[in-house]
Amino acid sequence: MKSKMRLCLKKVSLTISGATITFLLVTFVDFQRREDGSGVSGRAGRFAIAPSGQGFREEPAPVDGRLRAVASYLRALVAKPELDIPPGGGTSDLSQGLPPKGEPWQHRLELKDIFIAIKTTGKFHQSRLELLLETWVSRACEQTYIFTDDEDEELKIRTGHRMINTNCSSAHSRQALSCKMAAEFDVFIASRLKWFCHVDDDNYVNVRALLNLLSSFPPTQDIYLGKPSLDRPIEASEKLPNNKTKSVFFWFATGGAGFCISRGLALKMVPWASDGHFMNTAERIRLPDDCTVGYIIEALLGVNLIRSPLFHSHLENLQLVSKSQIQSQVTLSYGTFENKKNTIEMKGAFSVDEDPSRFKSIHCLLYPETPWCP
Ligand code: UDP
Ligand code: MN
Repeated sequence: MKSKMRLCLKKVSLTISGATITFLLVTFVDFQRREDGSGVSGRAGRFAIAPSGQGFREEPAPVDGRLRAVASYLRALVAKPELDIPPGGGTSDLSQGLPPKGEPWQHRLELKDIFIAIKTTGKFHQSRLELLLETWVSRACEQTYIFTDDEDEELKIRTGHRMINTNCSSAHSRQALSCKMAAEFDVFIASRLKWFCHVDDDNYVNVRALLNLLSSFPPTQDIYLGKPSLDRPIEASEKLPNNKTKSVFFWFATGGAGFCISRGLALKMVPWASDGHFMNTAERIRLPDDCTVGYIIEALLGVNLIRSPLFHSHLENLQLVSKSQIQSQVTLSYGTFENKKNTIEMKGAFSVDEDPSRFKSIHCLLYPETPWCP
């Protein structure tokens, strides 16, 4: 494990990606903010929530000038052409460094184009994250960023500084989860990568299957991929500027199964999701982070979720995924469902005692050449 992480770190120093620089600088900015006392509670201080009882007005949180400066500095620094959508989000421009119309996308996407965000919390660094680092993250270490709420020097070094302390609250509250999602989104936007994928720290990401799935969609178009956990659109009560409320129905991809958003769509989401606005938007419907993502995309932008059966949370019966299907699944999970233990059921390299989540066995099935696989 150690040598593998070292390998990843070595690569970083040789080919510092735009995303890496972004996030190192973002982290630096965050430190600066705390050190000079200008953002009382760090990052969370950037997210203004309209006080309850007041006429709800979208009060933009003050944009962090330094963060903006970092972003523009990075834009100048990174040579890769931006996949920017024309202002106003008109039709996608496929001409910038992208294959001509009619040419299959299948051959173009590379792992280095994908940004994977893992949401976690201090208390799960050991009990959940460690397993991910040993397994799938080792196959996508330069693309995977960990969003947490606590300092962890060892983790920071092991991940080549791709661990971001959001300074969000460590509670399992709606606001705390939205605070982390907002941070994930901001770092993705600054990274200029083609795809944003979010997963929880109890997800296994099948990196090959993820790349394969995303390869069939153009990242400049409006793509929102994932799996709903409900069998009908969710109904939210949307707070209107005149203090009234209105029912709004939309589909959302459940965060616990992971979801992906193309850069084209993410850029259109910026007014509601970036620079502190995500928290305001979440407050409008008072629902968790994954619902807020669905609300922005489906209800505000009018783009529909593309359902994929390849994403799996522990809110579905994971025993229904057979061993022969694992190769093609994009995400898997473990946990509880209807108060029962819920995992992939497969005979694998490790026993259930040795590998209760089944992630090690899944990893050995996908990458039998891994040194620690029997
Ligand atoms: N989580 C968090 N803070 C908490 C508890 C959980 O950020 O206090 C994160 C956790 O790391 C995971 C996600 O929220 O990525 C979902 O948590 P969990 O799997 O425990 O709950 P679920 O919603 O799946 O039942
Ligand atoms: Mn979970």
